[in-house]
Amino acid sequence: MSAAWQAFFDELARWRDAGRTAEFWWRDDDAARPDAAFARLLSLAQRICLPLALAVIPMQSRKEIFENIGSMVSVLQHGADHANRAGPDGKKTEFAAAEPPAEAIARLSAARWQLQAQAGKHFLPVLVPPWNRLPKHLAGHLAAVGFRGLSRYGARSSAEASPGLRQVNTHVDILAWRSGRGFTGEDHALAGATRHLAAKRQGAVDPDEATGWLTHHAVHDEAAWAFLERLFETTRDRPALAWRRAEDLFRIS
Ligand SMILES: [Zn+2]
Repeated sequence: MSAAWQAFFDELARWRDAGRTAEFWWRDDDAARPDAAFARLLSLAQRICLPLALAVIPMQSRKEIFENIGSMVSVLQHGADHANRAGPDGKKTEFAAAEPPAEAIARLSAARWQLQAQAGKHFLPVLVPPWNRLPKHLAGHLAAVGFRGLSRYGARSSAEASPGLRQVNTHVDILAWRSGRGFTGEDHALAGATRHLAAKRQGAVDPDEATGWLTHHAVHDEAAWAFLERLFETTRDRPALAWRRAEDLFRIS
């Protein structure tokens, strides 16, 4: 076993020894079309039997993707159209600073009803902003139009992003976006998870936020798929470790 796997399991053992349960969750972004990569994602989730939170792009999604998604899959809302509205030098975002808040909220609201109509009982009113970016002032408007949760990237600063809007982020991105979008490598991915677990155990970040694994099925290479299989198989039935459903994390029943 590599040093990275060993360090990961050592950290999990510290949680077990402390009588605590390490909580994980799995978010996959950019679902929209029923292509081969999407079929592979669903087949992995079903075979491994772990809960999957699927962040679907409402304005691009085809209703066929919801036909056989199974009971372990929850659907989150990945923006509205996932179009980049940043200026030429800005970081990519669907929500440009100059856009009037009412316009952004109206777009998200319309997209929400469309996605909810397609996804039915699988839908959860949780927003996953594209590129994990949302201007601070917009978060405060989301609860009023029915959103109950928000999910971005990095350890959360508080359990609610604004009153009534529960926040559960992801912490381990398995892709290397700046160098070819392939798998980031076992060492890097596992070190990210080990670091978040240790920071939670030591109280440096919110210990009650489940550690989120972020995947993007459409761009996985074989190494990314192989890593996920191994991660899921080695953690699925491990004592003091639980893979959590999004509805439980966001407290939506
Ligand atoms: Zn995205």
